[in-house]
Amino acid sequence: MVQAPRPVVPSGTYVVEGGWLLAYEKGRHRLIRNGSMLIKRDHIAEVRSGRISGNLPRLSVPDHLVMPGFINGHTHVASGTPTRGLIEGGRSYGRPIELVENLSDAELDDLTAFNLAEILKSGCTTHVEMSLSLRQAESYVRVAKKWGCRGYPGGMIPGVLRLDKIWFRKDDKVLFRSVGGTLAEIEANLAFGRKHMNAGDGRIKPMMSPHASDTQTEETLTALVAAARELGTGIHIHLSQRATETAAVRRLWGGLSPAQWLEKHGAFDGPLFGAHMMAIDWRTDPAILIKHGAVYAHCPSAGGAGGATQPYPEALAAGIPTTVAIDTHSNDFVENLKLAVIGGKARAKLMADRVPVKMPTIWAAVEGATLVAAKGLGRDDLGRLTPGAKADFSTIDVSGFLFGAGSAPPEPLNNLLYCNGAAVKNVATDGRLQVFDGRLTVADEADVFARGAQAVQKVWKGLTKEKWFTPTSR
Ligand SMILES: [Zn+2]
Repeated sequence: MVQAPRPVVPSGTYVVEGGWLLAYEKGRHRLIRNGSMLIKRDHIAEVRSGRISGNLPRLSVPDHLVMPGFINGHTHVASGTPTRGLIEGGRSYGRPIELVENLSDAELDDLTAFNLAEILKSGCTTHVEMSLSLRQAESYVRVAKKWGCRGYPGGMIPGVLRLDKIWFRKDDKVLFRSVGGTLAEIEANLAFGRKHMNAGDGRIKPMMSPHASDTQTEETLTALVAAARELGTGIHIHLSQRATETAAVRRLWGGLSPAQWLEKHGAFDGPLFGAHMMAIDWRTDPAILIKHGAVYAHCPSAGGAGGATQPYPEALAAGIPTTVAIDTHSNDFVENLKLAVIGGKARAKLMADRVPVKMPTIWAAVEGATLVAAKGLGRDDLGRLTPGAKADFSTIDVSGFLFGAGSAPPEPLNNLLYCNGAAVKNVATDGRLQVFDGRLTVADEADVFARGAQAVQKVWKGLTKEKWFTPTSR
């Protein structure tokens, strides 16, 4: 039997032609039927309706929707698989993520690679990454550099091994005693930022990543803001993620809300991505976020599959710049876009007579994960398919079994509501096709899979030894 030759992965200068293409024109996205795009190395040189002539390599996907690469406004890459399927049991996932820190650097890289592969394979090309420790941030940089990913990484401060004692304290003395350790972590993260700034041909841009407002003091926040000013990339934080955070900040810092307290110390002077915002003060905080162009990273999978809904329809109604993000547990970006819309609509209907809400749409979710997030990062070359922009894109099968109706559909964005990451077939960052025809090109996919599995098995083994798992009954 003669095997068909495997198609060559286009590179350098090539054409992408899709059944649909989400182009960026005059300040907004617009769908183009039979849209084509000319890629020249790392950027987009031309976008048009119809065919681009010339004898050039072609990525022809007449049943696909060509999309800008998604920007993930909040993630913890290495925590996805170690918590997936465990958090749903209702226990704290604190111990599994602590055990990740027992892995060697090589095992950590295997874990990072598995999870980064999932994120990439679901069409996400830029990652605002709060690694749970500086070791994990270093691992992210190693893998992202090798694979050509675009990221804004930082180690969470305080890191995972110091966090719980400070976060779940019964006495605020614990917080004040933690200042020395936290200042040391800020210094180490600043050094990480200096070392890796613009690594990987400018794709890696470290960001200061404090855990949340209730695990900082005025002294550590001041140091964080100074470090963020030096790096120039801003701050990535969980913001008002639960009521106890807002209460702690009010108790400690003269009745201010977390957003007010951060603003007072200059945390909003650069880009700021704040995740969750379950307990923001709707009277005072939206105006602060809007004034500074800070982005609310709405994560429909925070808390695992079936976790609590979050105030996405309220944030849209308040006019806060809002993006959709992964957080962790699920690494499927398309699935999370879908969950944001579906869960958001259910929440909006239930809450409409109590608070101002705006009904989420797939258009708003896509704009959030592209244009809004790009603006929040201060990047007008990301999140859009237009001449001069970075060649970060994906192609999504909106026609296949379970996703579509057999051929390019008339309103393809709506078909995303039936898709998930498995529908994403090609993904490129800076023009390099890292996923081609559904498979990784940047590494041996089977190898990434097997090694990632082994790393998680090690975490499970540790949990079994500690009798962490509950018996198999209801
Ligand atoms: Zn998070």
